[in-house]
Amino acid sequence: MGKTVLISGGGIAGPALAFWLRRAGFVPTVVEVAAGPRPGGQTVDLRGVSKTVAERMGLMPAVRERQLHERGMEYVRADGRRVAAMPVDLLDGAGPVAEIEILRGDLAGILADATSEVEYLYGDSITQLDQDANGVHVTFASGTRRRFDLVVGADGVHSRVRRLAFGPHDRFVQHLGGYTSYFTVETPEDLNHWMKTYTAPGGRWVALRPDHDPRFAKALLSFRSPVITYDYRDVEAQKALLLERFSGLGWHTQHLLARLTAADDFYFDSISRVAVPEWSQGRVALVGDAGYCGSPMAGHGTALALVGAYVLAGELAADGDHARAFSSYQRRMQAYVDQRMELPPGGIKMAMPMTATGIRYRDLMTRVITSKPFVGLLKAKPDVMELPNYSADRPLGVAAEQAE
Ligand SMILES: Cc1cc2nc3c(=O)[nH]c(=O)nc-3n(C[C@H](O)[C@H](O)[C@H](O)COP(=O)(O)OP(=O)(O)OC[C@H]3O[C@@H](n4cnc5c(N)ncnc54)[C@H](O)[C@@H]3O)c2cc1C
Repeated sequence: MGKTVLISGGGIAGPALAFWLRRAGFVPTVVEVAAGPRPGGQTVDLRGVSKTVAERMGLMPAVRERQLHERGMEYVRADGRRVAAMPVDLLDGAGPVAEIEILRGDLAGILADATSEVEYLYGDSITQLDQDANGVHVTFASGTRRRFDLVVGADGVHSRVRRLAFGPHDRFVQHLGGYTSYFTVETPEDLNHWMKTYTAPGGRWVALRPDHDPRFAKALLSFRSPVITYDYRDVEAQKALLLERFSGLGWHTQHLLARLTAADDFYFDSISRVAVPEWSQGRVALVGDAGYCGSPMAGHGTALALVGAYVLAGELAADGDHARAFSSYQRRMQAYVDQRMELPPGGIKMAMPMTATGIRYRDLMTRVITSKPFVGLLKAKPDVMELPNYSADRPLGVAAEQAE
Protein backbone atom coordinates (compact mmCIF):
# COMPACT_ATOMS: atom_id res chain seq x y z
CA MET A 1 0.00 0.00 0.00
CA GLY A 2 1.18 3.55 -0.75
CA LYS A 3 1.89 6.10 1.95
CA THR A 4 -1.14 7.35 3.86
CA VAL A 5 -1.73 11.12 3.88
CA LEU A 6 -4.36 12.85 6.02
CA ILE A 7 -5.52 16.15 4.47
CA SER A 8 -7.39 18.54 6.75
CA GLY A 9 -9.86 20.67 4.73
CA GLY A 10 -12.17 19.76 1.86
CA GLY A 11 -12.28 23.20 0.16
CA ILE A 12 -10.21 23.65 -3.01
CA ALA A 13 -6.62 22.79 -2.03
CA GLY A 14 -7.58 19.62 -0.08
CA PRO A 15 -9.51 17.78 -2.80
CA ALA A 16 -7.00 18.92 -5.48
CA LEU A 17 -4.16 17.43 -3.43
CA ALA A 18 -6.14 14.22 -2.80
CA PHE A 19 -6.76 13.93 -6.56
CA TRP A 20 -3.06 14.01 -7.44
CA LEU A 21 -1.87 11.92 -4.49
CA ARG A 22 -4.30 9.14 -5.28
CA ARG A 23 -3.17 9.17 -8.89
CA ALA A 24 0.44 8.84 -7.70
CA GLY A 25 -0.31 5.75 -5.60
CA PHE A 26 -0.67 7.39 -2.17
CA VAL A 27 -3.69 6.76 0.03
CA PRO A 28 -5.21 10.15 0.89
CA THR A 29 -7.99 10.77 3.44
CA VAL A 30 -9.71 14.16 3.66
CA VAL A 31 -11.22 15.38 6.94
CA GLU A 32 -13.64 18.30 6.56
CA VAL A 33 -15.33 20.01 9.49
CA ALA A 34 -18.48 20.84 7.46
CA ALA A 35 -21.16 18.21 6.86
CA GLY A 36 -20.39 18.04 3.10
CA PRO A 37 -18.73 20.02 0.30
CA ARG A 38 -19.34 23.69 1.17
CA PRO A 39 -21.39 25.59 -1.38
CA GLY A 40 -21.21 29.35 -1.73
CA GLY A 41 -18.69 31.98 -2.61
CA GLN A 42 -18.45 34.21 -5.61
CA THR A 43 -16.65 33.82 -8.88
CA VAL A 44 -13.01 32.74 -8.89
CA ASP A 45 -10.79 32.72 -11.94
CA LEU A 46 -8.54 30.28 -13.73
CA ARG A 47 -5.74 31.63 -15.86
CA GLY A 48 -2.07 31.00 -16.55
CA VAL A 49 -0.60 28.09 -14.61
CA SER A 50 -3.79 27.42 -12.62
CA LYS A 51 -5.69 26.88 -15.88
CA THR A 52 -2.94 24.50 -17.02
CA VAL A 53 -3.30 22.51 -13.77
CA ALA A 54 -7.09 22.33 -14.25
CA GLU A 55 -6.46 21.08 -17.81
CA ARG A 56 -4.00 18.43 -16.58
CA MET A 57 -6.60 17.30 -14.04
CA GLY A 58 -9.08 16.85 -16.90
CA LEU A 59 -11.49 19.29 -15.24
CA MET A 60 -11.90 21.70 -18.15
CA PRO A 61 -14.98 20.09 -19.77
CA ALA A 62 -16.85 20.37 -16.43
CA VAL A 63 -15.42 23.86 -15.80
CA ARG A 64 -16.49 25.06 -19.26
CA GLU A 65 -19.99 23.71 -18.64
CA ARG A 66 -20.31 25.77 -15.45
CA GLN A 67 -18.27 28.75 -16.66
CA LEU A 68 -19.78 32.20 -16.27
CA HIS A 69 -19.39 34.84 -18.95
CA GLU A 70 -19.01 38.14 -17.16
CA ARG A 71 -18.70 41.31 -19.21
CA GLY A 72 -16.72 43.20 -16.57
CA MET A 73 -17.08 45.29 -13.45
CA GLU A 74 -19.06 48.51 -13.05
CA TYR A 75 -18.96 51.08 -10.26
CA VAL A 76 -22.38 52.57 -9.52
CA ARG A 77 -23.65 55.37 -7.27
CA ALA A 78 -26.36 55.05 -4.60
CA ASP A 79 -29.03 55.71 -7.28
CA GLY A 80 -27.61 52.99 -9.59
CA ARG A 81 -26.00 55.41 -12.03
CA ARG A 82 -22.81 53.97 -13.62
CA VAL A 83 -19.71 56.05 -12.90
CA ALA A 84 -16.85 53.85 -14.11
CA ALA A 85 -16.35 50.41 -15.64
CA MET A 86 -13.68 47.81 -16.42
CA PRO A 87 -14.99 45.76 -19.35
CA VAL A 88 -13.35 42.34 -19.69
CA ASP A 89 -12.81 42.73 -23.45
CA LEU A 90 -10.78 45.90 -22.87
CA LEU A 91 -8.03 43.66 -21.46
CA ASP A 92 -8.64 40.43 -23.39
CA GLY A 93 -9.23 38.50 -20.17
CA ALA A 94 -5.99 39.76 -18.57
CA GLY A 95 -7.71 42.22 -16.21
CA PRO A 96 -9.50 41.77 -12.88
CA VAL A 97 -12.20 39.63 -14.55
CA ALA A 98 -10.49 36.71 -16.33
CA GLU A 99 -11.37 34.69 -19.40
CA ILE A 100 -12.44 31.71 -17.26
CA GLU A 101 -14.61 32.61 -14.30
CA ILE A 102 -16.39 29.94 -12.29
CA LEU A 103 -18.34 30.05 -9.04
CA ARG A 104 -16.20 28.82 -6.17
CA GLY A 105 -19.01 26.48 -5.08
CA ASP A 106 -19.18 24.95 -8.59
CA LEU A 107 -15.42 24.35 -8.61
CA ALA A 108 -15.64 22.75 -5.16
CA GLY A 109 -18.41 20.46 -6.50
CA ILE A 110 -16.34 19.51 -9.58
CA LEU A 111 -13.37 18.65 -7.35
CA ALA A 112 -15.58 16.59 -5.04
CA ASP A 113 -16.83 14.61 -8.08
CA ALA A 114 -13.27 14.13 -9.34
CA THR A 115 -12.27 12.63 -5.98
CA SER A 116 -15.31 10.43 -5.39
CA GLU A 117 -13.01 7.44 -4.70
CA VAL A 118 -11.14 9.26 -1.93
CA GLU A 119 -12.11 8.67 1.72
CA TYR A 120 -13.82 11.83 3.08
CA LEU A 121 -14.52 12.21 6.80
CA TYR A 122 -17.18 14.94 6.93
CA GLY A 123 -18.26 16.61 10.15
CA ASP A 124 -14.98 15.88 11.90
CA SER A 125 -11.69 17.65 12.55
CA ILE A 126 -8.23 17.07 13.98
CA THR A 127 -7.73 17.95 17.65
CA GLN A 128 -4.21 16.62 18.24
CA LEU A 129 -1.13 15.71 16.22
CA ASP A 130 1.75 13.66 17.65
CA GLN A 131 4.68 13.13 15.28
CA ASP A 132 7.42 10.56 15.64
CA ALA A 133 10.15 9.31 13.30
CA ASN A 134 7.77 7.02 11.41
CA GLY A 135 4.44 8.78 11.26
CA VAL A 136 1.82 11.01 12.84
CA HIS A 137 -0.73 9.92 15.45
CA VAL A 138 -3.91 11.91 14.88
CA THR A 139 -6.74 12.41 17.34
CA PHE A 140 -10.08 13.56 15.88
CA ALA A 141 -12.88 15.55 17.54
CA SER A 142 -15.07 12.44 17.15
CA GLY A 143 -12.66 10.63 19.49
CA THR A 144 -11.17 8.39 16.78
CA ARG A 145 -7.37 7.96 16.72
CA ARG A 146 -5.52 7.00 13.56
CA ARG A 147 -1.96 6.94 12.31
CA PHE A 148 -0.82 8.44 8.98
CA ASP A 149 2.55 8.73 7.25
CA LEU A 150 2.01 12.44 6.52
CA VAL A 151 -0.51 15.19 7.40
CA VAL A 152 -1.32 18.23 5.24
CA GLY A 153 -3.22 21.31 6.43
CA ALA A 154 -5.51 22.55 3.64
CA ASP A 155 -7.93 24.00 6.16
CA GLY A 156 -7.92 27.64 5.12
CA VAL A 157 -7.09 30.94 6.79
CA HIS A 158 -8.02 29.64 10.28
CA SER A 159 -6.07 26.40 9.80
CA ARG A 160 -6.17 24.06 12.80
CA VAL A 161 -3.20 22.06 11.49
CA ARG A 162 -1.13 25.25 11.34
CA ARG A 163 -2.05 26.07 14.92
CA LEU A 164 -1.24 22.54 16.14
CA ALA A 165 2.03 22.04 14.27
CA PHE A 166 3.41 25.51 13.48
CA GLY A 167 2.24 28.00 16.10
CA PRO A 168 -0.53 30.42 17.06
CA HIS A 169 -2.79 32.08 14.46
CA ASP A 170 -1.52 35.61 15.12
CA ARG A 171 2.05 34.68 14.30
CA PHE A 172 1.14 34.02 10.67
CA VAL A 173 -2.10 35.92 9.96
CA GLN A 174 -2.20 39.68 9.42
CA HIS A 175 -5.54 41.48 9.53
CA LEU A 176 -5.69 43.86 6.54
CA GLY A 177 -8.40 46.08 7.99
CA GLY A 178 -11.72 44.67 6.85
CA TYR A 179 -14.30 41.89 6.65
CA THR A 180 -16.14 40.37 3.73
CA SER A 181 -19.23 38.22 3.22
CA TYR A 182 -20.87 36.40 0.31
CA PHE A 183 -24.38 34.95 -0.13
CA THR A 184 -26.96 34.30 -2.86
CA VAL A 185 -30.06 36.50 -3.36
CA GLU A 186 -32.88 36.87 -5.89
CA THR A 187 -31.47 39.53 -8.14
CA PRO A 188 -33.00 43.00 -7.71
CA GLU A 189 -32.13 43.92 -11.34
CA ASP A 190 -31.00 42.28 -14.55
CA LEU A 191 -27.20 42.46 -14.23
CA ASN A 192 -26.76 41.71 -17.93
CA HIS A 193 -23.54 39.77 -17.13
CA TRP A 194 -21.93 42.69 -15.27
CA MET A 195 -20.53 42.66 -11.76
CA LYS A 196 -21.86 45.86 -10.16
CA THR A 197 -20.38 47.51 -7.12
CA TYR A 198 -21.43 50.42 -4.95
CA THR A 199 -19.22 52.01 -2.29
CA ALA A 200 -20.64 54.03 0.60
CA PRO A 201 -18.69 56.30 2.94
CA GLY A 202 -17.34 54.51 5.99
CA GLY A 203 -15.47 52.00 3.82
CA ARG A 204 -18.56 49.94 2.98
CA TRP A 205 -18.69 47.98 -0.28
CA VAL A 206 -21.80 46.34 -1.73
CA ALA A 207 -21.62 44.24 -4.90
CA LEU A 208 -23.69 41.91 -7.03
CA ARG A 209 -22.25 39.34 -9.44
CA PRO A 210 -24.15 37.28 -12.00
CA ASP A 211 -25.25 33.72 -11.13
CA HIS A 212 -26.05 30.96 -13.67
CA ASP A 213 -29.72 31.44 -13.07
CA PRO A 214 -30.60 34.99 -14.16
CA ARG A 215 -33.17 35.17 -11.33
CA PHE A 216 -30.34 35.12 -8.78
CA ALA A 217 -27.14 37.00 -8.03
CA LYS A 218 -24.14 36.57 -5.75
CA ALA A 219 -24.14 39.35 -3.16
CA LEU A 220 -21.06 40.71 -1.45
CA LEU A 221 -20.91 42.99 1.60
CA SER A 222 -17.48 44.16 2.76
CA PHE A 223 -16.50 46.79 5.30
CA ARG A 224 -13.39 48.31 6.76
CA SER A 225 -12.78 47.69 10.42
CA PRO A 226 -10.02 46.95 12.89
CA VAL A 227 -10.09 43.45 14.38
CA ILE A 228 -13.49 42.49 15.80
CA THR A 229 -13.59 39.68 18.32
CA TYR A 230 -16.24 37.23 17.15
CA ASP A 231 -16.86 33.51 16.98
CA TYR A 232 -16.09 32.69 13.37
CA ARG A 233 -18.54 29.79 13.49
CA ASP A 234 -21.45 31.92 14.85
CA VAL A 235 -23.26 32.73 11.59
CA GLU A 236 -26.22 34.52 13.25
CA ALA A 237 -23.93 36.96 15.07
CA GLN A 238 -22.11 37.72 11.80
CA LYS A 239 -25.40 38.41 10.00
CA ALA A 240 -26.47 40.75 12.83
CA LEU A 241 -23.18 42.61 12.51
CA LEU A 242 -23.77 43.19 8.79
CA LEU A 243 -27.38 44.32 9.36
CA GLU A 244 -26.08 46.96 11.75
CA ARG A 245 -23.17 48.13 9.55
CA PHE A 246 -25.12 48.40 6.28
CA SER A 247 -28.54 49.62 7.42
CA GLY A 248 -29.77 52.76 5.66
CA LEU A 249 -27.38 52.53 2.66
CA GLY A 250 -28.50 53.11 -0.93
CA TRP A 251 -28.55 51.17 -4.21
CA HIS A 252 -29.78 47.57 -3.57
CA THR A 253 -28.39 47.34 -0.05
CA GLN A 254 -31.80 47.11 1.67
CA HIS A 255 -32.88 44.32 -0.72
CA LEU A 256 -29.72 42.38 0.20
CA LEU A 257 -30.18 42.92 3.94
CA ALA A 258 -33.81 41.74 3.73
CA ARG A 259 -32.55 38.43 2.29
CA LEU A 260 -29.47 38.05 4.47
CA THR A 261 -31.22 36.32 7.39
CA ALA A 262 -32.53 33.51 5.17
CA ALA A 263 -29.32 33.02 3.15
CA ASP A 264 -28.18 29.40 3.49
CA ASP A 265 -24.82 29.72 1.69
CA PHE A 266 -23.59 32.63 3.80
CA TYR A 267 -19.81 33.03 4.16
CA PHE A 268 -18.10 35.63 6.36
CA ASP A 269 -14.42 36.16 7.07
CA SER A 270 -11.82 38.77 7.84
CA ILE A 271 -9.75 40.19 4.99
CA SER A 272 -6.46 38.69 6.08
CA ARG A 273 -3.08 37.80 4.70
CA VAL A 274 -1.45 34.50 5.67
CA ALA A 275 2.32 34.13 5.38
CA VAL A 276 4.05 31.12 6.90
CA PRO A 277 7.84 31.24 6.40
CA GLU A 278 8.34 27.44 6.32
CA TRP A 279 5.49 25.40 4.88
CA SER A 280 6.43 22.15 6.59
CA GLN A 281 7.30 20.94 10.07
CA GLY A 282 8.53 17.35 10.10
CA ARG A 283 5.80 15.19 8.57
CA VAL A 284 3.25 18.00 8.41
CA ALA A 285 2.90 20.48 5.52
CA LEU A 286 0.54 23.29 4.52
CA VAL A 287 -1.13 24.00 1.17
CA GLY A 288 -3.45 26.80 -0.03
CA ASP A 289 -4.79 29.53 2.28
CA ALA A 290 -3.51 27.68 5.36
CA GLY A 291 0.06 28.46 4.32
CA TYR A 292 -0.11 31.39 1.89
CA CYS A 293 -2.97 33.73 1.15
CA GLY A 294 -2.97 37.33 -0.05
CA SER A 295 -6.65 37.83 0.99
CA PRO A 296 -9.67 38.16 -1.32
CA MET A 297 -8.35 41.64 -2.21
CA ALA A 298 -5.25 40.13 -3.80
CA GLY A 299 -7.40 37.37 -5.36
CA HIS A 300 -5.67 34.26 -6.79
CA GLY A 301 -6.43 32.11 -3.69
CA THR A 302 -7.93 29.37 -5.83
CA ALA A 303 -5.06 29.51 -8.31
CA LEU A 304 -2.52 29.17 -5.50
CA ALA A 305 -4.49 26.26 -4.01
CA LEU A 306 -4.68 24.33 -7.30
CA VAL A 307 -1.06 24.93 -8.26
CA GLY A 308 0.21 24.30 -4.71
CA ALA A 309 -1.63 20.96 -4.55
CA TYR A 310 -0.21 19.90 -7.92
CA VAL A 311 3.38 20.78 -7.02
CA LEU A 312 3.19 19.29 -3.51
CA ALA A 313 1.83 16.00 -4.86
CA GLY A 314 4.31 16.04 -7.74
CA GLU A 315 7.30 16.50 -5.45
CA LEU A 316 6.09 13.81 -3.02
CA ALA A 317 5.62 11.38 -5.90
CA ALA A 318 9.04 12.17 -7.33
CA ASP A 319 11.05 11.92 -4.11
CA GLY A 320 10.29 9.28 -1.48
CA ASP A 321 11.97 11.46 1.15
CA HIS A 322 9.15 13.67 2.37
CA ALA A 323 11.50 16.29 3.88
CA ARG A 324 13.25 16.82 0.53
CA ALA A 325 9.93 16.80 -1.30
CA PHE A 326 8.44 19.44 1.06
CA SER A 327 11.43 21.70 0.57
CA SER A 328 11.36 21.38 -3.25
CA TYR A 329 7.62 22.15 -3.14
CA GLN A 330 8.32 25.44 -1.38
CA ARG A 331 11.34 26.28 -3.55
CA ARG A 332 9.35 25.78 -6.75
CA MET A 333 6.32 27.72 -5.51
CA GLN A 334 7.76 30.62 -3.49
CA ALA A 335 8.21 33.23 -6.25
CA TYR A 336 4.75 32.53 -7.67
CA VAL A 337 3.18 32.72 -4.20
CA ASP A 338 4.92 36.05 -3.50
CA GLN A 339 3.76 37.41 -6.85
CA ARG A 340 0.14 36.34 -6.37
CA MET A 341 -0.09 37.60 -2.78
CA GLU A 342 0.59 41.19 -3.85
CA LEU A 343 -2.27 43.57 -3.16
CA PRO A 344 -3.55 45.89 -5.90
CA PRO A 345 -2.18 49.46 -5.68
CA GLY A 346 -3.64 51.40 -2.75
CA GLY A 347 -4.83 48.21 -1.02
CA ILE A 348 -8.00 48.41 1.06
CA LYS A 349 -7.88 52.23 1.21
CA MET A 350 -8.27 52.51 -2.55
CA ALA A 351 -10.79 49.65 -2.83
CA MET A 352 -13.04 50.90 -0.01
CA PRO A 353 -12.46 54.61 0.62
CA MET A 354 -13.80 56.07 3.88
CA THR A 355 -15.09 59.38 2.52
CA ALA A 356 -17.28 60.60 -0.35
CA THR A 357 -14.26 62.48 -1.74
CA GLY A 358 -12.16 59.30 -1.60
CA ILE A 359 -14.85 57.39 -3.49
CA ARG A 360 -15.03 60.09 -6.20
CA TYR A 361 -11.22 60.04 -6.49
CA ARG A 362 -11.19 56.24 -6.89
CA ASP A 363 -13.89 56.40 -9.57
CA LEU A 364 -11.98 59.11 -11.41
CA MET A 365 -8.78 57.02 -11.27
CA THR A 366 -10.71 54.02 -12.61
CA ARG A 367 -11.94 56.11 -15.54
CA VAL A 368 -8.39 57.29 -16.21
CA ILE A 369 -6.72 53.88 -16.07
CA THR A 370 -9.40 52.28 -18.24
CA SER A 371 -8.95 54.99 -20.89
CA LYS A 372 -6.93 54.09 -24.01
CA PRO A 373 -3.51 55.56 -23.08
CA PHE A 374 -3.38 53.83 -19.66
CA VAL A 375 -5.29 50.60 -20.10
CA GLY A 376 -2.11 48.49 -20.34
CA LEU A 377 -1.35 49.29 -16.67
CA LEU A 378 -4.33 47.15 -15.65
CA LYS A 379 -3.14 44.02 -17.41
CA ALA A 380 -2.31 41.11 -15.11
CA LYS A 381 1.38 40.23 -15.14
CA PRO A 382 2.20 36.76 -16.51
CA ASP A 383 2.88 34.09 -13.88
CA VAL A 384 6.51 34.05 -12.74
CA MET A 385 6.34 30.29 -12.40
CA GLU A 386 7.17 27.63 -14.90
CA LEU A 387 4.92 24.71 -14.07
CA PRO A 388 6.86 21.43 -13.69
CA ASN A 389 5.55 18.78 -16.04
CA TYR A 390 5.51 15.83 -13.67
CA SER A 391 3.64 13.65 -16.10
CA ALA A 392 6.47 13.96 -18.62
CA ASP A 393 9.76 14.13 -16.71
CA ARG A 394 8.80 12.70 -13.30
CA PRO A 395 5.55 10.82 -13.72
CA LEU A 396 2.85 11.64 -11.18
CA GLY A 397 1.41 8.24 -12.00
CA VAL A 398 4.36 6.46 -10.36
CA ALA A 399 3.54 4.58 -7.14
CA ALA A 400 4.90 6.23 -4.01
CA GLU A 401 7.01 3.20 -3.04
CA GLN A 402 8.59 3.00 -6.48
CA ALA A 403 9.71 6.59 -6.15
CA GLU A 404 11.65 5.85 -2.97
C1 LIG B 1 -17.66 28.69 1.55
C2 LIG B 1 -16.48 29.45 1.04
C3 LIG B 1 -16.68 30.50 0.13
C4 LIG B 1 -15.58 31.22 -0.36
N1 LIG B 1 -15.82 32.22 -1.26
C5 LIG B 1 -14.80 32.91 -1.80
C6 LIG B 1 -15.01 33.94 -2.77
O1 LIG B 1 -16.14 34.23 -3.14
N2 LIG B 1 -13.95 34.63 -3.25
C7 LIG B 1 -12.68 34.34 -2.85
O2 LIG B 1 -11.74 34.99 -3.31
N3 LIG B 1 -12.44 33.36 -1.95
C8 LIG B 1 -13.46 32.63 -1.42
N4 LIG B 1 -13.22 31.65 -0.48
C9 LIG B 1 -11.83 31.33 -0.15
C10 LIG B 1 -11.21 30.53 -1.29
O3 LIG B 1 -11.92 29.33 -1.47
C11 LIG B 1 -9.76 30.26 -0.98
O4 LIG B 1 -9.06 31.49 -0.88
C12 LIG B 1 -9.00 29.47 -2.03
O5 LIG B 1 -9.81 28.78 -2.91
C13 LIG B 1 -8.01 28.53 -1.37
O6 LIG B 1 -8.67 27.36 -1.02
P1 LIG B 1 -8.34 26.52 0.27
O7 LIG B 1 -8.82 25.14 -0.05
O8 LIG B 1 -6.94 26.74 0.69
O9 LIG B 1 -9.24 27.17 1.42
P2 LIG B 1 -10.82 27.13 1.59
O10 LIG B 1 -11.51 27.14 0.29
O11 LIG B 1 -11.14 28.19 2.58
O12 LIG B 1 -11.11 25.68 2.23
C14 LIG B 1 -10.74 25.32 3.55
C15 LIG B 1 -11.66 24.19 3.99
O13 LIG B 1 -11.20 23.73 5.26
C16 LIG B 1 -12.33 23.53 6.08
N5 LIG B 1 -11.89 23.62 7.47
C17 LIG B 1 -11.65 24.72 8.20
N6 LIG B 1 -11.23 24.40 9.43
C18 LIG B 1 -11.19 23.04 9.47
C19 LIG B 1 -10.83 22.11 10.48
N7 LIG B 1 -10.42 22.49 11.70
N8 LIG B 1 -10.89 20.79 10.18
C20 LIG B 1 -11.31 20.37 8.94
N9 LIG B 1 -11.68 21.22 7.96
C21 LIG B 1 -11.61 22.54 8.23
C22 LIG B 1 -13.31 24.58 5.66
O14 LIG B 1 -14.64 24.24 6.02
C23 LIG B 1 -13.11 24.61 4.17
O15 LIG B 1 -13.93 23.70 3.49
C24 LIG B 1 -14.27 30.91 0.06
C25 LIG B 1 -14.06 29.87 0.98
C26 LIG B 1 -15.14 29.13 1.46
C27 LIG B 1 -14.89 28.02 2.45
